[in-house]
Amino acid sequence: MRIGLLRTWGGLILDFALPPRCPGCGIIVGDLHRFCVDCWKGIEFLGNGGCQTCGLPLAATEAEACGACLAQPPIIARSRAAVRYDDLSRGLAIRLKYGRKVAIARTMAHYMSPLVDPAATRPVLVPVPLHRGRMWRRGFNQSALVARELERRLAIRMDPFALRRVKRTPPLKGMSRQQRARAVAGAFMVPDKAAVAGRTVILVDDVLTTGSTAEACARTLQRAGAERVELISWARVVKPSQLMR
Ligand SMILES: [Zn+2]
Ligand SMILES: [Zn+2]
Repeated sequence: MRIGLLRTWGGLILDFALPPRCPGCGIIVGDLHRFCVDCWKGIEFLGNGGCQTCGLPLAATEAEACGACLAQPPIIARSRAAVRYDDLSRGLAIRLKYGRKVAIARTMAHYMSPLVDPAATRPVLVPVPLHRGRMWRRGFNQSALVARELERRLAIRMDPFALRRVKRTPPLKGMSRQQRARAVAGAFMVPDKAAVAGRTVILVDDVLTTGSTAEACARTLQRAGAERVELISWARVVKPSQLMR
């Protein structure tokens, strides 16, 4: 109850008044956003070292881009994720939706911001939108919270209205690539083309799983005149087959 009161006065007061906690397990740690030793050992940071296009780890024979990106350049010109998707990073994504939202969004942005393309021309951060129905039920879009923190850190403007989700999409899990593409086709629209025309749109997402949703966003943005589409996410699924090449 008291915490609730403090929160309405301002999350900042609360965050500074309490000792920093490990974003993974909640034990008290020395610094804000710092993971405890045990959690740190469990996290796999993906960084900037992989394929310069898709960000996935490279095989020994590949130089700068992976074979798949060379064979067919993806519609998203540059993808980066802070960490690999696993129990710990999923836990953070879940608490972003249901728990200490602002603190978690700040931690995610702390690890994501160094991976945002510093050379992007006329960049704008655009969170992957939720459908209106889901937005109303939850009251906020978790990706927009992270985008706002990235905006603060990087001084790149974010525009939560540049892209709108106009179609509810079924869960994509278990679908083939083709079925997923069909399920998300036409799901997004750009209400005002001037918001993205000639710009590098940096999509912001919490978790990247199959990539089909982000690709549908990118296709819509390009059709509306975006110069280039990039993607930054907190966690991404990396299949063992993508690591052991
Ligand atoms: Zn921990
Ligand atoms: Zn690649």
